[in-house]
Amino acid sequence: MIQEFQIRVLPEQAANEQSLKQFIGRDKGLDIRTIHALRILKRSIDARQRTIYVNLKVRLYINEVPQDEEFIRTIYNKVEGKPQVIVVGAGPGGLFAALRLIELGLRPVVVERGKNVRDRKIDIARISREHKVDSESNYSFGEGGAGAYSDGKLYTRSKKRGNVDKILNVFCQHGASTSILVDAHPHIGTDKLPRVIENMRNTIIECGGEVHFKTRMDSLIIEKNKITGIETNTGKTFKGPVILATGHSARDVYQWLYDNGVEMEAKGIAVGVRLEHPSMLIDQIQYHNKNGRGKYLPAAEYSFVTQAEGRGVYSFCMCPGGFVVPAASGPHQIVVNGMSPSNRGSKWSNSGMVVEIRPEDLSDNSLFTEELKTKSEELKATNKNNGQWTTGHCPLTMMYFQEALEATCWQQGNMRQTAPSQRMMDFTRKKLSYDLPDSSYSPGLVSSPLHFWMPTFITSRLIKGFQQFGKSSHGFLTNEAVMIGVETRTSAPVRILRDNETLQHVTINGLFPCGEGAGYAGGIVSAGIDGERCAEAVATYLGIEED
Ligand code: FAD
Repeated sequence: MIQEFQIRVLPEQAANEQSLKQFIGRDKGLDIRTIHALRILKRSIDARQRTIYVNLKVRLYINEVPQDEEFIRTIYNKVEGKPQVIVVGAGPGGLFAALRLIELGLRPVVVERGKNVRDRKIDIARISREHKVDSESNYSFGEGGAGAYSDGKLYTRSKKRGNVDKILNVFCQHGASTSILVDAHPHIGTDKLPRVIENMRNTIIECGGEVHFKTRMDSLIIEKNKITGIETNTGKTFKGPVILATGHSARDVYQWLYDNGVEMEAKGIAVGVRLEHPSMLIDQIQYHNKNGRGKYLPAAEYSFVTQAEGRGVYSFCMCPGGFVVPAASGPHQIVVNGMSPSNRGSKWSNSGMVVEIRPEDLSDNSLFTEELKTKSEELKATNKNNGQWTTGHCPLTMMYFQEALEATCWQQGNMRQTAPSQRMMDFTRKKLSYDLPDSSYSPGLVSSPLHFWMPTFITSRLIKGFQQFGKSSHGFLTNEAVMIGVETRTSAPVRILRDNETLQHVTINGLFPCGEGAGYAGGIVSAGIDGERCAEAVATYLGIEED
């Protein structure tokens, strides 16, 4: 017999199967010797009160053994000889598009500018060690995309549960722990995700698809408003409709699209810093306990959001027990982001602290510091179309703004990957920090007056936001926390316009802008969902129906 229960237990009671069985046996009047197996279906932590509870939905197999698999398996058949579809980019958008194409009986040819997920690791390590960023292989570029060396958080605001479940099940099928199907805030961890990505690539190849690394799409081949293929830096061309899933850091792709008149629009982004606290402090605050998380609770998470001067200020991509990483995708930039291992066991917890910025905000020149103005003017000069970057009319306005801020940050960081930083309370008091706390950011920190050189538009709102967060969460606004500049790649600065129904570009047939870079996703799961949708749209375009 199978029985399911919703229960609320203390963390120590949820610590292992035996302690859970004992609790349920007592609570439900069951003889625990009859419980042959126990499966957790949902798990969340309720830390709103002093006593912390774990909410669980459990399934008991009473006097029987489980016959069902813990995840739903997708069947991938051979697709050799089937119509070919080009997928540009092997991030979550591209990989899920490729797998879905196989399901639909189409043959994906994946083209990825970076290296495979293992070789990529060496280049990532060099950023911290030698302060050198390889423009083709870094935290943004390479197999697995921007999320490969990340926290691997898999929650999304998408309301379409079925689509989310499909993505999570495909991850499980390729080696992710089934705990991601259970936890309210699932994550895979940077130590586990690369193996899962390799397995996804192997499925593509075993089914007859192709994956080409170190192959950068340099141009789309467009004939009479229709895509016929792509040209790459290796000299090879590939023919077929194109799913363009190149992510939000492929500025050369945006520039190419702009220079060749492919319709796009500037999109709002959020910009700020990474904020890093000792994880013990966050645990103490969130679990209301001076001893922190104790033995049975995970590193605590937080999420903050407020409005300041008419714009949102919020925490972004929180990484409990994680690391701040140098996520630039080229030289002369500093960009920070966060990641964590599956055990979330580091001494620090970080998150992006960002301010919403809209294209129309850049019409006001006073938003820019002198240094930013000069940088943006330099960038503008390299733009063939000489777009009106300050007026909000050029689709690349926000991208130039990001780029200029990253370049300024690099200068403030001594023109290395050492990141300009300031203690949190000093920042709110507009005071230079005389020293900085220990940090997980391995290239190193340099003390810098962020309040002075970052645009006032951002700093004044961040200060208000921090004061607000410090009020609602006592101890959060502290000089034990350090702000590390700058977090700029929170989402795409551009939207590549596509039709809502066909998902094709508004004027170019056979071009399917996909994922985060095209402006239709934010995060691993939503990029995966969009990849699947684009694959389905290509199938419709080619007149293929699902069996
Ligand atoms: P991307 O992942 O950016 O993939 C685009 C791919 O296209 C890249 O592999 C790139 O090399 C390739 N490419 C670009 N240009 C070309 C070209 N011209 N030719 C061929 N290939 C090209 N999200 C979460 O949901 N959870 C997290 O925990 C999380 N943590 C993150 C941590 C870090 C350090 C970073 C950088 C990002 C993190 N994100 C996280 C964001 C997440 O990674 C992205 O939202 C997601 O990867 C977007 O997927 P995508 O496929 O649309 O684009």
